[in-house]
Order: sequence, then structure tokens, then C-alpha cells
Amino acid sequence: MNKFKTYNIITIGCQMNKSDSERIAGYFEEQGMREETDKYKADVVVLTTCGVRQSAEDRVYGFVPKIKKENPGCFLILTGCLSMRSDVKKRLGDLVDLWMPIGEISNIKYPARTQASSRARQISNKFQIPNFKQDNCSYLELKAKYSSAFSAFVPIGNGCNNYCSYCVVPYARGREKYRQAKDIIMEVKDLANKGYKEITLIAQNVNSYRDGRRQTTDDRKYGFSSLLIDVNKISGEFWLRFATSHPKDMSDELIETIAECERVCEHVHLPAQTGDNEILKKMNRKYTREDYLELTSKLRKKIKPPLAITTDIIVGFPGETKEQFENTVKLFKEVKFDMAYIAQYSPRPGTAAAKLKDNVPKQEKKRREAALIKILRKTALENNKKYIGKTVKVLVEKKGKDGDWFGKTRTFKNVKIDDRRQTTDDRNLSGKFVEVKIIKVKDFGMKGEIVD
Ligand code: SF4
Repeated sequence: MNKFKTYNIITIGCQMNKSDSERIAGYFEEQGMREETDKYKADVVVLTTCGVRQSAEDRVYGFVPKIKKENPGCFLILTGCLSMRSDVKKRLGDLVDLWMPIGEISNIKYPARTQASSRARQISNKFQIPNFKQDNCSYLELKAKYSSAFSAFVPIGNGCNNYCSYCVVPYARGREKYRQAKDIIMEVKDLANKGYKEITLIAQNVNSYRDGRRQTTDDRKYGFSSLLIDVNKISGEFWLRFATSHPKDMSDELIETIAECERVCEHVHLPAQTGDNEILKKMNRKYTREDYLELTSKLRKKIKPPLAITTDIIVGFPGETKEQFENTVKLFKEVKFDMAYIAQYSPRPGTAAAKLKDNVPKQEKKRREAALIKILRKTALENNKKYIGKTVKVLVEKKGKDGDWFGKTRTFKNVKIDDRRQTTDDRNLSGKFVEVKIIKVKDFGMKGEIVD
């Protein structure tokens, strides 16, 4: 009998971590456990960690002692990117009961076989575990407890083979492993039958997907483009998104597929990381700024406008000079991004870049970040102005404090919706598609009215 009745999961970091937490929650629910919203009262607390930035890591160092102080009897599981880092283990020691690399969820049952603490070793056979292979992908077959009733992440694989010099993911999650297409299609069909309106296929590199079966030559040819085509055929009323794409794997065939599949939204998230060729080389990104520019112009030519292009950028990579940074500035001006997630470089232990001198001063990193945000605000506003007076489909997410609804367009733009009828007809629009006429725009948002 499982002595643990309740669980609480704290998730730090990216979409993949959120999705992992949904799988863990689904697994606990199957064991008959229920969610306890107060982490200081739950029997089992799971921390899904992120090691991509120092700030995310620091949150874990804050959480762990606090949880053990306020809830000393809980069984604390640490999973995610930090679960394999020996320095983190040394620092947190016995405060963590089970160190669980995400692919090893079955080790919950056998803590004695893992690097678990002595306390964990005393607690064995408390969970009934599905019979999974010990790899970093089989756990994706766990049934998820989706956190939204209308929008779901569907993981298609885990891990990364690219070894970008600044990134911990290949060490934290292992080599790329992909799910079988038939399992992914089944999960999406199930979601579509349940009325889900937005499905996002996720992996570290969605566009290097290969069918997990790899038995025949045909399986090997079945890539991300084939998967999109098959998922696009599933009946239901839903939008299809995907993230994250690596520029080096964005083939012409895939661009054609994105353009032709009507469910696939007109939004491509394409991390550039920098606009300078020398730095791209040092980052081991395997494309040049010219390749990136050619790619974005191809995307704009082939995909129905307005196409939104968003990106990730790192400023202040070791040795990045002011002149090299200016190449990123130029890239921003040329591509006219709709959104960019800009990070100030911080060295990640164990990565190749961590051996380089982190020699761009903090103040200069801040200045570079601010300079890019300034351009981004301009280009995003320019892009949004094209929406004024147009009627667009919006998936409504939630109601704000002032009574207005909020949602997103296919192009991933935030829209504040004025529903004039709500005083007479207090409708619940959450999870519904509505047609909205855009009347006002800002850099990172728009406002519109529902039209019938
Ligand atoms: S592609 Fe590069 S940045 Fe992305 S997860 Fe892999 S190593 Fe990290």
C-alpha cells in the first residue's frame, strides 16, 4: 500500500519541464494520490528543476531548505536539469530524499538502487510502477494530468545531440530520443476528442524528430514534417503549434509543410542566439547569420502572412565585442521579430563555454539587453499595427480582474477582448474560439471587440 496520499509539484523553467511535471502528476493520480496545493502539507513534494540560468538554479537552493523546514516529514524528490549535477547533490545533500533524472521515474519504487539518501533507502516499494525501460524517453508514455482543459503540450521526444557550448541540456537530459509517431498521434487524437483547442508539440529540437521505431527505411524517413502532416489530419477543432526548432534543421520540406497544414499556426520560434558569425561558431550553433536571414526570408515568402517570428538571444557571451554585438543589433533590425527572449550570459557548470572567461561586465550585458529590447519594441509594434481594423480568430484563455477576457491569436499575440455582451450574458469564454476585431495595438499586445 502506498503510504503517500498527497503530492505537490513545483515547476521551474521551460515548457518541457511543465510537461514533465504533468506526466509525474498523471502518474501519481494513477497511484490514487491527490494533489495538495499547499507544498508545506503534501506527503510528496517534487521539484522539477532548471539549470539553464543561474537565477533558476538559485530558486532551487531557496526552495529545498524551506520545504524541509516547513514540512519536515515530506518525501522530497528532485528531478529535471539539476538532478544529475554532482555539485548540486553535494550542496543539498540529504535534504533531498530522491534524486530522479526524469527518465528514471521508475526509480521512485527503488530508491535504494539510485543515488538516493539513506532516508529514501528506508522507503521502498511505496509506489506501484509501470514497467518502463530505463531510458530518457519511455516516461513520456505516462498519462499526463494536463494543467489546462483546452490547451496541451504533447512531448514528442527528449534530449539533445547538439552540444551548443553554453547549454546544459545534452548533459542534463541525455541524447535525443523520440516517441513513436503512433503514440503521439494517439495522444493528440485523444485530446482532440476531448475538445482541446490548442496542441503544442514539444521537444528540445522538434525539427530533428525521427519516428522512435527506426525499424525500416520508411520509419527513418518519417521526420517532423511527416508527423505534422499526420497530426494535421486528425479531426477536431484545434490549432497546432510546435517548439523549439533549430535553424540548422529547418528544411525546405518542413517550411512547405508548415505552409500547407491548415491547423499549423503562423508562428515560428527560431532561436538565433546571436547575429555574429564568430560567436555562432564559438556557440557551436552550426549555421551562419546569412543562413538565418535566408531562412527567415523563406519562411516569410512561403507562409501566409502575417507570420510571427520569435527568437532566443544570449548577450555577453564570452569574448563578445561591441562590434560583434552590433551584428545582433543588425539582425534584429532586419528580421523584425515579434518577440525575443533575451538572456544575459551566465556560465553553466560542465559546459564547454564555462571554460571560457566570462569577460563581458554585468553592466555591459544589461546595456546590450536593453538595446535589443528597444528595437524589439519598435518592430513588434510595427508588426502589430498591421492588425488594426482586421478581424482575427482568438483562443480565449482567461478573464482578467477588470472583467475583460484575454486570449491569443494564431500568431501568438496577446489580445485583450472587450465582450460588450457580458453584462447581459455572463458567458464563460475560456477555451473558446471567438472572432475579434482589433481596435488598438501596443508592442506586446492588442485590444479588440468580439464580432458575431
Ligand atoms: S539545441 Fe543547443 S540550446 Fe537547444 S537544447 Fe540543444 S544544446 Fe541546448
